[in-house]
Amino acid sequence: SKPAYKWRRVLLKVSGEALAGDNVQNIDPKVTTAIAREVASVTRLGIEVAIVVGGGNIFRGSSWAGSSGLDRSSADYIGMLATVMNAIFLQATMESVGIPTRVQTAFRMSEVAEPYIRRRAVRHLEKGRVVIFAAGTGNPFFTTDTAAALRCAETSFGSFLFAKIYLWLVFLFLWLKANHNPYPDSDLGTVGYLMEGEADSVLQFNAEVVLKATNVDGVYDDDPRQNPNARLLDTLSYQDVISKELSVMDLTAITLCQENNIPVVVFNLNQEGNISRAIKGERVGTIIGG
Ligand code: UDP
Repeated sequence: SKPAYKWRRVLLKVSGEALAGDNVQNIDPKVTTAIAREVASVTRLGIEVAIVVGGGNIFRGSSWAGSSGLDRSSADYIGMLATVMNAIFLQATMESVGIPTRVQTAFRMSEVAEPYIRRRAVRHLEKGRVVIFAAGTGNPFFTTDTAAALRCAETSFGSFLFAKIYLWLVFLFLWLKANHNPYPDSDLGTVGYLMEGEADSVLQFNAEVVLKATNVDGVYDDDPRQNPNARLLDTLSYQDVISKELSVMDLTAITLCQENNIPVVVFNLNQEGNISRAIKGERVGTIIGG
């Protein structure tokens, strides 16, 4: 049967700027609560949600590097630590609305969070837990957008080719199994033998998308703050983003998405219901792909 929603597993990227809302104190609890509620509503539908949090609301390495003798690597490590603060805040909020949530960090901080272990992350997702990936990629000179693309590709959200081959092999196997009825006298016959649970475990490789929650409605053909006639684009190719130098994501992140055929949806998280709409695969913001 066709899954009810477009995605079965998504990677939601929440930037630090989006978490800040209108609060001067770096994090706006109204925003984190809204995120938690909307994510809760979709996890109840069975959609698996992983989150990558940014840290720009607290510290952005690139804007500090150079000042007061701070080298880029040190500045970036501070930036990565900032993402851990956001992650723990978001985790606590998620759990207060009843969603079991795990934080995994790209470098070890085992007293506060689990270290990133790919298979473990997938297992949490399969059990219906939300996983928040913190500390970006764990490397200076990268961004949390790249971390989002990387974790998405890595946790088999993104490998279309693999997923397709895998799906075909499993369907072939199930078809052969269904046609070979080991219980010829049973009333259930072949239909009963192809159990619901088996079909479900096949489908869980279906979903792969990065949903980038921002403070803007999507991608415009020009800067809307400077050009009042700038148009909001529905769809866009990776190549457009790269050649027109649209500041959707940094080049490393967008290239990683392109190479792994991961669609990216850019949408506004301040509009109520948008997060759950995006996760359910409904039309919202701008979709980049192709
Ligand atoms: N950062 C890093 N490596 C990573 C991810 C993040 O060094 O893989 C640092 C970098 O200094 C960055 C900061 O963490 O400025 C916060 O992340 P980012 O700017 O991506 O957050 P966002 O813009 O999403 O709030």
